[in-house]
Amino acid sequence: MHVVMAASEAVPFVKTGGLGDVVGALPAALQRLGIEVSIVLPAYHGLSLDRASLRRTDWQLRVPVSDRIVTAGVLATQMPGGVPVYLIEADQYFARTGLYGTPDGDFLDNAERFAFFSRAIPALLPYLGTVDVLHCHDWQTALALVFLRADAGRYPELSAVRGILTIHNVGYQGVFWHLDWHLLNLDWQFFTPSWLEFHGKINYLKGGIVSADAVTTVSPTYAREIQTPEFGCGLEGVLADRQEALVGILNGVDYAEWSPEHDRHIAAPYSVDDLRGKAVCKADLQAAVGLPVHADQPLIGIVSRLAAQKGFDLLSEIAPQLLHKHLQLVVLGSGDASYQELFTDLAHQHRKRLALRIAFDNALAHKIEAGSDLFLMPSRYEPCGLNQIYSLRYGTIPVVRSTGGLADTIADYDPATGNGTGFSFAEYSGTVLMACIDRALATYRTPEVWRRLIRNAMRADFSWNRSAQAYVALYRRVIGGR
Ligand code: ADP
Repeated sequence: MHVVMAASEAVPFVKTGGLGDVVGALPAALQRLGIEVSIVLPAYHGLSLDRASLRRTDWQLRVPVSDRIVTAGVLATQMPGGVPVYLIEADQYFARTGLYGTPDGDFLDNAERFAFFSRAIPALLPYLGTVDVLHCHDWQTALALVFLRADAGRYPELSAVRGILTIHNVGYQGVFWHLDWHLLNLDWQFFTPSWLEFHGKINYLKGGIVSADAVTTVSPTYAREIQTPEFGCGLEGVLADRQEALVGILNGVDYAEWSPEHDRHIAAPYSVDDLRGKAVCKADLQAAVGLPVHADQPLIGIVSRLAAQKGFDLLSEIAPQLLHKHLQLVVLGSGDASYQELFTDLAHQHRKRLALRIAFDNALAHKIEAGSDLFLMPSRYEPCGLNQIYSLRYGTIPVVRSTGGLADTIADYDPATGNGTGFSFAEYSGTVLMACIDRALATYRTPEVWRRLIRNAMRADFSWNRSAQAYVALYRRVIGGR
């Protein structure tokens, strides 16, 4: 079986969030299960890659964009594990700093950039041998599934290819005004509510949802939630209509990258059987971010986009109260200017309690996972979430809101049985969040109970193998249906 995975980011080449982690890890896990996988990405300038491994193919893709034909070259390289990667070259779209925009906002030509990329994908497939499944991710590649249908006449050899769309966050849909319709060069029949039309605009993600043979999202709970108005961001009806084709498959994590036994970014290795290194990591983190080095003060870590989705409005509400407690807080993130300002002010006021780093810093993210006692993720919604799963492996106890993937990965600690891997709360309110943190802090004060919780957390297994098996089962199902 040959699966082509198309996305706008993949670790180790380029990443802005969980999407990049997934596309970086899932292909290798599928390959280990005997599936042939190829990856397609835009050839952004600034990709982290070994130039020596890069090969220029002599393929020339002819991609319709508006009333023009854009020709694009294709570069070939491979993932560290050997999965082939094809990079579609179009400097007018991808030779710039940033993937989707600048700190001032989205690029104004994103409709065109990703219409081009999505249409280049079916144009590339005939060069890749027999393809069974085209697996697209998020709005940036969703249109490829529309073009697979619409361009069937141009590519008769693709008639047996089955399409899968994975939604990593339904909050990002690629919605553009109707005046961009000419870019897609599609018949007007596609600008209707049963296709891409969405309240008078063009919705790329919707196009993918209605065209795919199966739609997945990144946790079972989120798959249910997005069919409701609270979480569906306007697409709840479209998703509910595709209920039969919609499944939630939890992301795995790459334990080669995220394990305290062999993490090159942390001060000392440790494991569930020998936790001594964790105290060294805590002291190292405190020193690195300029907090007083106290072994016994609970240290809470946050690594996150600074966005309302991640619960920063709740955190803003409780911050003054929280920072008067006997604890320390380290926050690594970047995003909304209003949260950056608020936390910068708080960090000035509480220098011994709050360390703030406004940055995207992978090494520091690892240090925070290892050095903190608790990890805070009070998201309003969370399709899957990766940081809480990394935290489990580092014995850093997650405090989470039970929504989406957080609900599917963190079991609330039950003092009666000693079972559970973290602390969770349901109602989205500052008071309830504060009560949940207090419950965690109270448990922290009983070291033997806390150690048990750490062991429970570190033993939880969310490796990619399990998720990859679920994807393979789905691929077989859609291929079987053809
Ligand atoms: P999302 O994709 O919604 O941002 P996830 O938890 O699914 O959230 O994935 C976030 C990924 O990005 C994780 O690998 C996390 O470590 C990383 N990350 C987020 N913010 C930062 C940051 N400021 N510095 C370093 N890594 C970050």
